[in-house]
Amino acid sequence: MPEIEASAATHLWSRLLEAFAAQIPEQSLLTWIQPLTPQRLEGSLLYLAAPSHFHREWIEGHYIERMEVILCELCGEQIRLRFEVLARNEEIAAHEGNTKPAQSAKKRLTAQRMMPQINEASGGQPRLAASLSESRLNSRYLFDNFIEGDSNSFARAACLAIADTSHRSPWNPLLIYAGTGLGKTHLLQAIGNHVVRRDPKARVLYASSEKFTQDFIESVKNRATTDFSQYYRSIDLLLVDDIQFFAAKERTQTEFFHAFNTLYQNGKRIVLSSDRPVNELAGFDERLISRFGSGLVTNIDPPDYETRVAILKERAEEDKFPLSNEVADLIATHITNNIRDLEGVYVTLMARCQLLKLPPTRELIREIIRDKTGHVAGRPPVEKIQEVVADYFHLPVEALRGKSRKKEIVFARMIAMTLMTELTPHSLKTIGNFFGGRDHSTVIHARDTINNLRTDNDQSIIDTFQALERRLSLCTLKGSNGGYV
Ligand code: ADP
Ligand code: MG
Repeated sequence: MPEIEASAATHLWSRLLEAFAAQIPEQSLLTWIQPLTPQRLEGSLLYLAAPSHFHREWIEGHYIERMEVILCELCGEQIRLRFEVLARNEEIAAHEGNTKPAQSAKKRLTAQRMMPQINEASGGQPRLAASLSESRLNSRYLFDNFIEGDSNSFARAACLAIADTSHRSPWNPLLIYAGTGLGKTHLLQAIGNHVVRRDPKARVLYASSEKFTQDFIESVKNRATTDFSQYYRSIDLLLVDDIQFFAAKERTQTEFFHAFNTLYQNGKRIVLSSDRPVNELAGFDERLISRFGSGLVTNIDPPDYETRVAILKERAEEDKFPLSNEVADLIATHITNNIRDLEGVYVTLMARCQLLKLPPTRELIREIIRDKTGHVAGRPPVEKIQEVVADYFHLPVEALRGKSRKKEIVFARMIAMTLMTELTPHSLKTIGNFFGGRDHSTVIHARDTINNLRTDNDQSIIDTFQALERRLSLCTLKGSNGGYV
């Protein structure tokens, strides 16, 4: 759709320009980069217009690689640049459009960043392109590319049910809470995309609580608070991300409370996300807290090993990047708690392999993991995990494999089992075997008990895990075990 292609290109170009401005001298930016104009985004190709053949060759010879690396980091996927040289009259028009409003690169960046704060209600027939941009939805986040696992299946099902209901939802509002990088934004956006695709006329709005706050402040400044209230109250489906940022913003909370109530009373769907459970939201009006918790509340846990591998494989398939099982395993073994970090390692790997024409060697992956997390990549064998855990709890390693039901031994055993489910690719049954032939259900019970404590932010468990993970990384660093991958 041409409108989407053009506006996506402009948006992406302004982000690229902003990031690139920090990397090159202002003069080079003004001379070479600023005269380029975004044309369209076609799949993974961003088309830019250059004012002359010479200009184009200069960019291709000097800047293109760095720009593509930035694009890859911004988008999480490989976007290539393509240049077109404008015909003379188009060139003049493009130049005028480019230089008139701003003299310096900095000014131009500011101008490009200024987006309309509140979109007008469109009176005519809204089309998908308009709906998507009005809704502030990113078409990348879909249910189709959201990988389901034990950790997120309930949240996903609840979101899908809300997206599929065109009338009053049985659970309103829906609140999803989860740590960072576990898929909250993805799910909220997927609901919006699903609804808009089925009914482009539906008034869907995705807003982070920060954006809501900014819009509100802007409306106060412009004496347009009535427009603001009317706008937010005219929505059919309101998606508000990261509500924890409303904390201690009293006026914004009051405004949100009123918008919320109007929508709620009119049976409109509301979906919220938070990085913590409702009862831990500090700095909130009690009325809001009770509204937030009055519908369905669900959480997303960190993904298990299989889900992590499946997410990597799905991304690689989307990008047509040949990701071997061994490489996926190595990444998924080391990045356990945050899908954004998991994707970060993958994207960097893909960028380095494709742009610098490097093969995905273990050394390269280790280096990327080390850079991103400070951890050393390598998979500790089961014996090492048992040894390190036993040592940490001052127990003989045989105690973990033995029959004792003593409290402290059972606890250490549960920790070792949980670590093994995260750090090794072994099945639950195999892991049970490493602990004196215990049943797979014992491993499940251990993992769930320990993970519940972690989710409840039990500080001593969190510290224990950090210490154990550090020790296991150090073992790898010393190369004390030649068997590491
Ligand atoms: P949050 O909002 O919870 O911080 P995001 O929704 O931004 O996390 O997710 C971080 C990244 O991980 C995004 O690129 C998202 O697409 C991806 N992601 C998260 N969960 C999944 C999943 N289950 N399947 C596929 N990708 C996922
Ligand atoms: Mg988010």
